[in-house]
Amino acid sequence: MQLRKVYNWQLNRRVGYVYPQSRPKKQWAMIFDLNKCIACQTCSLACKTSWTSGKGQEYMFWNNVETKPYGGYPVGWDMGILAKLGTQSWEKDKYTGKTLFEAAQKDEKILEHTAEDEDWAYPNIGEDEIYGTVGQGDWIASLPHRIWMYYLPRTCAHCTYPACLAACPRKAIYKRAEDGIVLIDQSRCRGIRECVRACPYKKSMFNVETRISEKCVGCYPKIEQSEMTQCVTNCIGKIRLNGFINVPENADKNNPMDYLIHVRKLALPLYPQFGLEPNIYYIPPIHVPSAYLTQMFGPRALAAVKTYKSIPDDPVLKGLLVLFGSLEKIVHSFKVDGEHAWGYDVGGKEVVKVPVTEPVFVRKFFDAERKAYRHNTP
Ligand code: SF4
Ligand code: SF4
Repeated sequence: MQLRKVYNWQLNRRVGYVYPQSRPKKQWAMIFDLNKCIACQTCSLACKTSWTSGKGQEYMFWNNVETKPYGGYPVGWDMGILAKLGTQSWEKDKYTGKTLFEAAQKDEKILEHTAEDEDWAYPNIGEDEIYGTVGQGDWIASLPHRIWMYYLPRTCAHCTYPACLAACPRKAIYKRAEDGIVLIDQSRCRGIRECVRACPYKKSMFNVETRISEKCVGCYPKIEQSEMTQCVTNCIGKIRLNGFINVPENADKNNPMDYLIHVRKLALPLYPQFGLEPNIYYIPPIHVPSAYLTQMFGPRALAAVKTYKSIPDDPVLKGLLVLFGSLEKIVHSFKVDGEHAWGYDVGGKEVVKVPVTEPVFVRKFFDAERKAYRHNTP
């Protein structure tokens, strides 16, 4: 298929896409700090009870959390498409291999890996399975860990160049100009499932009851009220932040998303080599071997790990990460002064102020006034 040329900043080059370049006025984005996720699945359940509790949605998790390296929902989603794509080469931060659109067969729009019905039935497969075996007397002595695993939360990334949208023969999928959220028009969809096959992240799903496709809606009713999504505001580990990202040339260092993604390059896209410019960004885990991180998050992964390790001596990053999970409103700009971090709305009004270091109060074991013994819970 004849592809148009569009610019993908994550790959630092022009790439092939089915439609001409058309960026939204604003782009919805999320950042997840993978060093903090505990796989409690509260995000998955917050999403499920909000959006997918109906008939035909029993196996549907718009938000899921899988354990890497062995977990995957659907089973083997990333291994399947990575094996098909073959060699993925980078020259510094420029991707020189083929994207999924560029690697497509002659009459196809995108290189696909199809998940079977059975693959969707085990969202927790591989959970808490570690890489390698633990010998008697083993202990963790250095970074990266010899034996490791980590949790990877995933939702639709509301890609800049969505495969689902490109593949739909009914033109039922559209990307909103006002916030970049990708939606399926339920009245146009006929359940042909090209989007389900095409999305390499496997985040477009088929409802067996209604016989049409569905996907994460980016909690657009909340976004329209300037509130963060359900998976973000319910996150127990406070690993998530939701906001709007600019393209690198318009990066605003006061915008928390731009600061973490463009300025500090701490948060990175998942499998950028697919070529979709996904808009969920991950702070990589610091204990995982470099080859795995580089394949998953691209060539900037190791520099991001180094930056993360330096956070104790970095007052701005330290303060900004405290804003994760501190409020429901979307923060458009932030400020840190060493002791506190502030978040501001789109009009510059303060919406949150949090201490960078939580104060610790140690109570006396015996309270003489009340004649009571007390325990301190750390
Ligand atoms: S709620 Fe937060 S900490 Fe819990 S699994 Fe989801 S992303 Fe991880
Ligand atoms: S992650 Fe998949 S479903 Fe979501 S916008 Fe990208 S291609 Fe479409």
